[in-house]
Amino acid sequence: MKKIYEGKAKILYQLEDPETILMVFTNQATALNGKRKEDIAGKAILNTQISTLIFEWLESVGIATQFIKKIDDDRQVVKRLEMIPLEVVVRNRVAGSFAKRFGLEEGGVLSKPTVEFFLKDDELDDPFVNVSQLTSLNKITEEECQTISDLALKINDKLIQLFDEAGLILVDIKFEFGKDSSGNIILGDEISPDNCRLWDKVTEEKLDKDRFRRHLGSLTDAYEEVSKRLDAVIAHQK
Ligand code: UDP
Repeated sequence: MKKIYEGKAKILYQLEDPETILMVFTNQATALNGKRKEDIAGKAILNTQISTLIFEWLESVGIATQFIKKIDDDRQVVKRLEMIPLEVVVRNRVAGSFAKRFGLEEGGVLSKPTVEFFLKDDELDDPFVNVSQLTSLNKITEEECQTISDLALKINDKLIQLFDEAGLILVDIKFEFGKDSSGNIILGDEISPDNCRLWDKVTEEKLDKDRFRRHLGSLTDAYEEVSKRLDAVIAHQK
């Protein structure tokens, strides 16, 4: 199989059918834009489980995604997309780089969700970029920015509800989008506690990658808990 991309937490291979890709999750956890790396046994399997649950659920509520099927503990077959090199962050509460940039305490509830774009470029440390810059640099059209922003907010709204039923607060989340063979912009990549912040609704305990970033205790115990809760909520809905 031809490797077409190797990221920090996933490796992609081209499958025989040119429209499909094999997405292999890895155990690698990174922080500080890849400067700190660690292998965490069990993370790949947990993220595959969690991302599969979420993508299947999103499809069931009418959101088009890259996901096709999970074929193994740490593998999914996904649609080939032409990825848009953006990290699209939606924030519901103040945390992380947003807290730092604006000198705010973590946890404050924003009056409405906010969308931010970061250019996906490790060498540049994923710089913050606005719509004017993106369109001037011919990275993407204004119309595409609007579509992405609307989609990100819509998916965020749906996920707030799903996580709420699982007793979790969705603090913020990073999405990636791509174009399918017909040119439609659809949700790609993964959704797991590696790329969103999830706090327990009652205790506000962090159940996401901040445990690794800030040395707050076992990552896999938290991911296991998220997986278990989502599984129960989704099974109950069926
Ligand atoms: N995020 C991500 N990949 C990145 C940077 C951020 O998935 O390369 C996620 C992160 O997990 C959080 C959200 O995007 O849920 C907002 O992250 P923030 O900008 O606060 O950055 P960080 O605190 O990671 O520096």
